[in-house]
Amino acid sequence: MAPDDIDAISRENGAADVGDASSRVSEMDGAGVWAPEMGEAAPRDLCTDCGISRTADPGRCGRACQFIQPDYPDLEARVHGRARDPERPDERFFGPFRRMVRAGLTPRRDGAQWTGIATRIGERLLETDAVDAVLAVASRDDDRWAPKPVIVTRPEGMAQCRGMKMGYAPLLALLEPARKAGYTRIAVIGIPCQVYALRALERELGFERIYVIGTPCSDNTTTDKFHAFLELLADDPSTITYFEFRADYFVEMRFTDGSKKEIPFLMLPISRLPADFFPLTCRTCVDYTNVLADITVGYMAGEGEQWLLVRNERGEELVASLGNEVTLGQPGDKGKRAKHVEGFKLNTEKAAGGMPVRGMPNWLRPIVGRIMPIVGPRGIEFARARLEMKAVETIIHLRLHRRKRIKYMVPQHVWDMAADYGLTPEEDEKPVSRQSGS
Ligand SMILES: Cc1cc2nc3c(=O)[nH]c(=O)nc-3n(C[C@H](O)[C@H](O)[C@H](O)COP(=O)(O)OP(=O)(O)OC[C@H]3O[C@@H](n4cnc5c(N)ncnc54)[C@H](O)[C@@H]3O)c2cc1C
Ligand code: SF4
Ligand code: SF4
Repeated sequence: MAPDDIDAISRENGAADVGDASSRVSEMDGAGVWAPEMGEAAPRDLCTDCGISRTADPGRCGRACQFIQPDYPDLEARVHGRARDPERPDERFFGPFRRMVRAGLTPRRDGAQWTGIATRIGERLLETDAVDAVLAVASRDDDRWAPKPVIVTRPEGMAQCRGMKMGYAPLLALLEPARKAGYTRIAVIGIPCQVYALRALERELGFERIYVIGTPCSDNTTTDKFHAFLELLADDPSTITYFEFRADYFVEMRFTDGSKKEIPFLMLPISRLPADFFPLTCRTCVDYTNVLADITVGYMAGEGEQWLLVRNERGEELVASLGNEVTLGQPGDKGKRAKHVEGFKLNTEKAAGGMPVRGMPNWLRPIVGRIMPIVGPRGIEFARARLEMKAVETIIHLRLHRRKRIKYMVPQHVWDMAADYGLTPEEDEKPVSRQSGS
């Protein structure tokens, strides 16, 4: 697809959740946190507003976008020095990595999504003067769930970025103000669609050094839709301070009074959500585990702790920067995923593009919800199951909504994961390489 073509494509997902002008400050606060003014997002089809369309050269989206014609094999080789190794089967799921560990920070940081490893790495880079600035995502002043991209220049400012926000954050729009401010060594903490664009453009951005700390990401939605979801879960949703889909098949919510609520996934009011609750971008995302980051900081295989994929030498440097604050261990690996992924595939097909339907009667759900943590896939097997579900979901939804894009958007490794579930590319769906055009 020609880069200019995308300017003509209408934007599907509406404007970003960066908020109105009143929430944008152009001055740095006392903790060295700066949210510069940014331009408007250009209209785009399949777009998560990573920020590139708001820069001086929005035409770069054509080369930078995960949703246009990504080239994962090329970028993986460039960033990590090698392609995925077929002799290491888990690289088929998680991308190239040196080691995969279970991890926890002591003490765990207040306000962090898990123990706070992601923001603590940013803090350490600033404390040791390894970088001039960290680009990350804080909350909008008027809404803890709404993302606000920020440039952080002092270690104490990283605390403002702890915790997950729901919605698109045009993080990469901060690259230009960071460069203009004279910062040459930076770190970026980002989700996969942001990190893809960052890596695709990295060599032309003019920075001396960029550390990339990635988190996995799946099932993002707009901040407004997330608020509507929270309204279904609590009498007073404004008291919810924490929300997470845990790897033990429970959602955990925490409240302003310190109380906690755990709900089995199967008991969530999914059927009451609109069909477009998850935008098409996030239903068709091909990079769950942030394969182009130096280190991926997640939780999926952590069984209640965090999960790190240390991908290259720079990733090792980042883990080392945590010293003995971080405890590392071997992730568990139990259960069998195949029938769970197969069930997910059938439900996704039945939903015909809407939210996955569930055939199970209501009376059975609480029972199965309690049994799943004992019999379902756990540790690395849980993470593999989620990756395969994502691959299956991507193919089913693209076939329904953007079939012509499949050959450009779906890399071979996604087809490889879906093949065990009977999904293989038709002739017009076979991956087209960016270099050869065939
Ligand atoms: C929408 C979304 C879905 C996710 N889904 C998964 C998942 O399925 N599996 C999994 O293992 N992990 C997932 N994560 C990552 C997970 O929530 C934690 O961020 C990660 O485990 C790191 O925890 P921590 O305690 O080290 O992070 P903290 O130290 O609390 O730092 C959180 C970091 O996340 C960044 N951040 C927060 N919200 C956003 C946002 N909207 N956009 C971009 N960056 C943001 C902040 O910049 C901050 O640096 C998801 C994150 C998001 C934003
Ligand atoms: S590169 Fe970023 S801004 Fe451009 S179309 Fe893709 S997600 Fe949207
Ligand atoms: S699920 Fe994928 S496309 Fe959606 S916000 Fe997360 S990384 Fe971006």
